[in-house]
This record gives sequence, C-alpha cells and structure tokens, in this order.
Amino acid sequence: LEGLLHYRQHNAAGRFRPTSVKMMLDGIVENHTAAMLAPYLDHDGCATGNSGLDFIDPGELPRYVTALDQAGVQVHFHALGDRAVRNALNAVEAARAARPGSARETWIRHHLAHLQVVHPDDIPRFAALGATANLQMLWAMNEPQMTELTIPFLGATRATWQYPFAELATSGAHLAGGSDWPVSSPDPLLAIHVAVNRALPETAGDPFLPRQAITRRTALAAYTSGTARINGVAASAGSIKAGYDASLAVTDADLATIPDAEICEASVTQTWVRGELA
Ligand SMILES: [Zn+2]
Repeated sequence: LEGLLHYRQHNAAGRFRPTSVKMMLDGIVENHTAAMLAPYLDHDGCATGNSGLDFIDPGELPRYVTALDQAGVQVHFHALGDRAVRNALNAVEAARAARPGSARETWIRHHLAHLQVVHPDDIPRFAALGATANLQMLWAMNEPQMTELTIPFLGATRATWQYPFAELATSGAHLAGGSDWPVSSPDPLLAIHVAVNRALPETAGDPFLPRQAITRRTALAAYTSGTARINGVAASAGSIKAGYDASLAVTDADLATIPDAEICEASVTQTWVRGELA
C-alpha cells in the first residue's frame, strides 16, 4: 500500500492518474476457474468437485479493501462467478462499515467488472453499497462460448443468472460500460447494440435472456456518464452541456432514433477530447 500511495503521488502525468487498484478475484467460466457458490457440472450434468478459484483469500479481502478505501484508493474488482461477486460485495460492505456516518457522495467509487453470474440475492446490494456494476455488454449473447462452453456446465438455473443488466438497472445500481479490450472489441456501439438486442446480426442464435435487455438510453448513459463517473473525472464529463468538457464521439447515425436493429451499423466519425478534435 505504501508503494501504491507513493506511485499515486509521483507518477500522475496529464490525464493519467494511478488512483485505482484492480483486484483479480477469480478466473473465467469457460475453463471453470470463475469462483462459483456451487460446483460446475460435468458433461452429463452432474456436479463436479470444482467450484473455481479464489485468486485472493476471501477471508482477507475485506481487510485489504478497507485499507485501500481508507487511503482513498478505488478498487476495480474482476469478478465473473457468483462467489467472486459476493466476496467483492462483502469487501465493499466492510469498507463502508469502516466509515460510519459518512455521506454517500464521499464514498470511494469501487466497481465490479464482468458480473457474468450474479446470485439474485446480491443484485440489490450494488445500489445499497454504492458498488458500480462495470459491464462488458458485448458478452451477453448466444455464441459458441456461451452455448457450448458455459451453459451446459452452469446448468439451467444458474445460466439464467448471467449478465443481469435489466435487474441491476432496475435495482438502482450505478452502471458503467467497458470493453475489456483486448479480450474483445473496443467498439462501444457493438456493446450497446447487444445491451438492447441481446444479440448481434451475425450471431444466428436467439437473443440471450431478452428480459435482461436494457434501453438504449440506459446503455448509452453507462458508456458515457456512467464510465466518466467511475473514472473519477469531474461531473463536467460524460454529458453534453454548456461549460462541460466537450469530450465527444460523433456518430454517423442518430443513436436516439435509429431502429434497435441498426445500432451496430453506426460508426464513429469524429472523436473530440476536451474540445479538441483527436
Ligand atoms: Zn477482468
């Protein structure tokens, strides 16, 4: 922690600010390393002895996160499995409890990335704890990684707990959008398309859990003001208003009015950073 704080103080440059720590809590579902509350299934649908991995001791995690929080360091959790999500929320809960009576606006904006499998009991905890859901919305679709490598090994019930964007939004959780590039495309318009349609045109399968689709307004807000919010930039970023930063992406289609099925066909024609064309 001492080294991190020294780095934070001395290694900021321009718009680069080392103010966050990423804690990789688990692996990924496809190779059964994401940390699950119940075991993965085998090819015959029977429970195995494997529930995935905790890369950081969950018993110590609340103490680590509380120490980082007390030092004003934001924590970005990598959490794919429902056990990793719960461990991260438990750690944020401990950090909040260590600042009794503090105003919510002053809370450090910790966020949980990926959120592939979220136990239903944990959905309301995001809003309650001020933990932002950092979503890679492109991943919420039926493609071979989902249908062949994931659903059979989660089983019917848990497979429906995946990428619960609508439930998170309805629960009042803050949403942020991210790409996880270079793991997948950095194009936010593809991700917003999937958030709304739960499929891409080239993926032949049915929409993936379409009840978890969100409005384009919610998806656009996540990828703009929502992300600006967890990146700790001033309130004057992530929205368009007089006197704001003018960090803008200009698209060749009106994202407010084009049909849902055409969002992914839009492309960015200009990028502006603080009022300058990049
Ligand atoms: Zn990650």
